[in-house]
Amino acid sequence: MRVLVIGAGPAGMRCAERAAEAGLAVTFCGTEPALPYDRVSLGRVLSGEAEVQALISHDAARLRDLGIAFRPATRIAALDPAGRAVTARGETIAFDRAVIATGSEAVLLPLPGASLPGVYLYRSMADVLAMRRSAGSGTRVAVIGGGLLGLEAAAALSQRGARVTVVHAVGWPMERQLDPAAGALLARQLGAIRRLAFAMPARTEAIEGETHVRALRLADGKRIPCEMVVMAVGVRPSVALAREAGLEVGRGIVVDDAMRSSAPSVLAIGECAEHRGTVCGLVAPALAMAETAAATLRGEAAVYAPRPDPTALKVSGIDVWSAGEIGPADAEAITLSDAAAGRYRRLWLRAGRLVGAVLYGDTADAPFYLNLMTEGRDVAPMRGLLPFGPAFQDAA
Ligand SMILES: Cc1cc2nc3c(=O)[nH]c(=O)nc-3n(C[C@H](O)[C@H](O)[C@H](O)COP(=O)(O)OP(=O)(O)OC[C@H]3O[C@@H](n4cnc5c(N)ncnc54)[C@H](O)[C@@H]3O)c2cc1C
Repeated sequence: MRVLVIGAGPAGMRCAERAAEAGLAVTFCGTEPALPYDRVSLGRVLSGEAEVQALISHDAARLRDLGIAFRPATRIAALDPAGRAVTARGETIAFDRAVIATGSEAVLLPLPGASLPGVYLYRSMADVLAMRRSAGSGTRVAVIGGGLLGLEAAAALSQRGARVTVVHAVGWPMERQLDPAAGALLARQLGAIRRLAFAMPARTEAIEGETHVRALRLADGKRIPCEMVVMAVGVRPSVALAREAGLEVGRGIVVDDAMRSSAPSVLAIGECAEHRGTVCGLVAPALAMAETAAATLRGEAAVYAPRPDPTALKVSGIDVWSAGEIGPADAEAITLSDAAAGRYRRLWLRAGRLVGAVLYGDTADAPFYLNLMTEGRDVAPMRGLLPFGPAFQDAA
């Protein structure tokens, strides 16, 4: 069976590898010019801790050994699910099954000045190398967006010696993963150990400059002088190819539990896929979908089962972790706060089950809480000791 995997991100790579291991004839196309790399670790290249080579997960020899026909710099322009063929660079490639793994694109806010030189996105190796060329010691940088990626970019650029201000629309960073108290601790610590400044809550109205970025103008009239702007305001699933091919598309490409799209010859995985109304934004579910799709290609009955997605900020010296529902209105919260030690925990319970958790300052117990959530265990009997983690449960 000829399998065509479209998109050389982590999900595409995993699926191509598993399909090739099963003896299927795999062609693997990606838009980016490079070999497949570990996108999650791009911050290490941005900060200067690692070079490009360290992120390459599969070099040319490994792909050849697997029997994968890898085609970099190949954007699939059109897909014909019924005719089982795609076109790329004027050429037609035939397949028996196609797997769309086109991921997401970073959102560029349509602000005045957004197309000025000096404005960057943070998604690909090319973005990171371009930023590295421009940011040096003393460069003033404004990062729009205080989510996971914005903070990671800000910390990496500050490690290069840049003076970074994070502009965030909400009153505390990472508001999707943290409650206000944990967010405040995080902002304070990032200021102390990474010298990040924050403008929060603040909305950017325009990027000023004539031939190059010179400042951000905020809605309250304040100006933040800068030579560089990084937009980290979210991502959008890359679904144009699927939509034009007539596949069912909501926010992402709609798939069933086996990762099959609405066309029998096409599967979809990773951040471009929508499973039971949800589009994932993390690598673990993207890889789990890839495993499921590979099993489907092998003819096995496979089911993708979503799990609570834990998130952690990859900034050294900062221990923050969260999973599940953060601050749901219909749940009870239990808080453990030791401000002097910089330690904070908040857990959310609904009907005796743990449904969400934030850990700050000490994340060693993260697997314990994740297990409780995943298994849906009744935690009512251990409620009083729950914020203290597994050691206290054992002692009880
Ligand atoms: C800087 C950074 C740090 C991150 N850190 C974390 C983290 O710590 N933890 C975590 O869980 N997640 C993290 N993520 C998110 C994680 O990288 C994504 O969840 C993951 O990459 C999704 O994989 P994917 O294969 O679905 O999509 P992508 O990685 O987006 O890959 C899709 C690929 O398809 C290509 N493509 C698109 N259209 C076409 C086409 N028509 N033809 C051919 N190719 C095409 C794209 O160019 C791209 O290379 C991070 C992301 C970034 C950018």
